[in-house]
Amino acid sequence: MKRFLSFFMPGGILFLAALFVVHREGIAASLPEILGVYPYIVLACAVLIGWRFNRSSLVFAAVVLAVSDRALMYIGSTPPAGATLYRGIFDAVAVLLPLNLAALCLMKERGLLTIHGIIRILLIALQPAVVAFFLTMKPGYLPVYLGQPFTGWKVLSAGALSQPAMASFCLAFVIVGFRFIRNQGAKESGFFWALASCLAGLLSGGSWLRWDFYFATAGLILLVSMIEASYAMAFRDELTGLPARRALKEDLLKLGSRYTLAMLDIDHFKKFNDRHGHDVGDQVLRMVAAKLSEVSGGGRAYRYGGEEFTVIFPGRHADDAAHHLEELRKGVASTGFTLRGRLRPIRKPRKPRARRKSPKQVSVTVSIGMATRDETHTKPQDVLKAADKALYRAKKEGRNRLIA
Ligand code: GH3
Ligand code: MG
Ligand code: MG
Repeated sequence: MKRFLSFFMPGGILFLAALFVVHREGIAASLPEILGVYPYIVLACAVLIGWRFNRSSLVFAAVVLAVSDRALMYIGSTPPAGATLYRGIFDAVAVLLPLNLAALCLMKERGLLTIHGIIRILLIALQPAVVAFFLTMKPGYLPVYLGQPFTGWKVLSAGALSQPAMASFCLAFVIVGFRFIRNQGAKESGFFWALASCLAGLLSGGSWLRWDFYFATAGLILLVSMIEASYAMAFRDELTGLPARRALKEDLLKLGSRYTLAMLDIDHFKKFNDRHGHDVGDQVLRMVAAKLSEVSGGGRAYRYGGEEFTVIFPGRHADDAAHHLEELRKGVASTGFTLRGRLRPIRKPRKPRARRKSPKQVSVTVSIGMATRDETHTKPQDVLKAADKALYRAKKEGRNRLIA
């Protein structure tokens, strides 16, 4: 459910809203007025926010959408221009747009006015130039290559789109979909729903008003998703995937009059790092965090920093929370964490490691200090301090234990 929501929000909602607007007669009638400002505001915000947040893919995607939009507007507003020109531009947009969006979704952030950024800008600018070249010098080429069916598959022959255009959309959806499954990020889900909006626009029939509206909505989806991705970056700890200290600080302020807090610290982690290396240490941190995220009793785990974690039990008394924390402590201690022989790299290394370590099991323990809100500790910060003191005692008394 959580995964579905993260996929659907906020892009899916905006996409459904766009479908609703286009098909509501009252609102659809005012599309020309809306479109006098909507696409320009979206473009301006996307460029501004993409630049200020250092999210070049948002800026590039907004430019790609704007160029595609202008190209369609050109043929939309000059109907007698001839079927070759019309099909040539339409098919070129329908084939190139999804591929560009999928490529932007895959690309790493490399800045806007860096050498990588400038190459990307040139590649984007090159495409309309090549299309314009073919349309003026060899008018028959584009409709032949971009507009012709190449297989008898019925699925690829939907609506106004040519088969190559449908194939291009399918490929883009698959690329972005897989990327979402891997990264679970707002950026990927944004690109997915932006593609859906572009597809809806191109399938919506001959009026450029609709293209314009759907393309602007695609830009808006990317914009909102990018803001969400930046928010997640600030509030989620990158290594463990747990909410970070900043999220803890905010959530502490939302607590009521009854709650219990716990501070956890991995035992002898420094030695562990020294013996097995920092990368293995990171792997263990991730595995311990995964255990903590499953804590029972309605507890919520945060990475406080380093190898220290905090668990909040809203609405729970000390005895109640102690039971769940004790379960957690035993759970960590009895788990043999299997380390991968080769550490999980994001990308495969070019050269295999000279010395491959075989998978091995390690075990770690955690010490826990716990404190509950009472008459002496009324503020969350005070309760947290008390939990930290209890943690210190747990360390002194021999580690791998819970002290209240
Ligand atoms: P104690 O049982 O008293 O807690 O001993 P300790 O060695 O765990 O305590 P200490 O707080 O002195 O050491 C924490 C170590 O955790 C220091 C640092 O090397 C390691 N550490 C902190 N953050 C990270 C991280 O993100 N990755 C890895 N691999 N190690 C980290
Ligand atoms: Mg520590
Ligand atoms: Mg420690």
